[in-house]
Amino acid sequence: MQLIAKLGILADAAKYDASCASSGAPKRSSRGREGLGATDGVGICHSYTPDGRCVSLLKVLLTNFCLYDCQYCVNRRSSNVPRARFTPEEVVRLTLDFYRRNCISGLFLSSGIIRSADYTMEQLIRVAQLLREEHQFRGYIHLKTIPDADPLLIEEAGRLADRLSVNIELPTEAGLKRLAPEKQVSTIRQAMGTIHRGQQAVAGELKAPRFTPAGQSTQMIVGADATDDSTILLNAESLYQGYGLRRVYYSAFSPIPDSPSSVPLAAPPLLREHRLYQADFLMRGYGYTAGELLTTSSNLALDIDPKLAWALANREVFPLDVNRAEPALLARIPGIGLRSVQRLVALRRERRIRYDDLIQLRCVLDKARPFIVTSDYRPPLADMRSSLLHARLREPQRPCRWGCGGDRAGLRRPLRHLA
Ligand code: SF4
Repeated sequence: MQLIAKLGILADAAKYDASCASSGAPKRSSRGREGLGATDGVGICHSYTPDGRCVSLLKVLLTNFCLYDCQYCVNRRSSNVPRARFTPEEVVRLTLDFYRRNCISGLFLSSGIIRSADYTMEQLIRVAQLLREEHQFRGYIHLKTIPDADPLLIEEAGRLADRLSVNIELPTEAGLKRLAPEKQVSTIRQAMGTIHRGQQAVAGELKAPRFTPAGQSTQMIVGADATDDSTILLNAESLYQGYGLRRVYYSAFSPIPDSPSSVPLAAPPLLREHRLYQADFLMRGYGYTAGELLTTSSNLALDIDPKLAWALANREVFPLDVNRAEPALLARIPGIGLRSVQRLVALRRERRIRYDDLIQLRCVLDKARPFIVTSDYRPPLADMRSSLLHARLREPQRPCRWGCGGDRAGLRRPLRHLA
């Protein structure tokens, strides 16, 4: 099979994996030195997958042959799709070729499981080895880790790649047993533990060899089973705490051709995935816990964002005087972000904060107004019942800008609007 035909199959097969953002890589460049590539280059092209994700262009599978039969996966053993396989040398050639043309910022490489977990992992490592050691490639490499592989192989991958990811796949063990019976939560978590220990071993050691400097990530599929948002976020929280994950990616289940009856025929609302990302951001950046974000319901509201939902469920905390409140509390005011909090704290050391200052700082006052007090403003809506406030602040159902209507509201371009 021609290389270009393989690329068509294996790049398409990789598009369902969302755990590939290249944030967090250390600055590294070959400028003025031997070798090739950089992790922070400008003018590097990115592309959008058909379902809207922004990814580095070369996001491929080594092969879409797979011994496993995960029900939600287009590459499963029983799936009737064209199959292809790259040799490690072919992936290296493509990566260098695209890199030299400034089309990609690096490589995201995953694979179906062929022959055995160890053999597959060895093949992935071979690609990274050739790039790093033979071609002095200094660009970004993200390797998908095969959970059942020998820990020594995972450690080897960690020394070569910027980021490793082990997909947790489904939010619950029961879900994994039902939809991916060949996978086990215990081995997935063991692989995450191996990576985490490798990171801890080099942390703070300036001269230690590098080990996944951009950290590890995982992906959780949302909407392939009936798991609620509360369970999903609690699971994500435990992964952040237990394994120091850099990111958990939430991937709304995409119906696949000839899907088995065990998975839904329709995708969940993309807005649900969006709300999970917002909640995840609040946990990582603002110090919310999963339990706090879901006190009144087991699913996140779709019509308001999670920060606003928390404020409406905790009205006794508000209104907050922006001239006095602790920074951590200021950050809990809907419409006021972390950067605005820093600026407000700096400003109030000089003078009292007025309503106009919040406008200058570009706070989202439509959301913040009922929850703040300034030197010249008290909210007239402070006593309004939360349900009325909720109705007033809910996000309007915008018609889809691609013309499909419904809840997609232009978040991403739906598949059916692509030629
Ligand atoms: S092991 Fe990976 S590639 Fe194979 S069927 Fe499962 S999810 Fe798909």
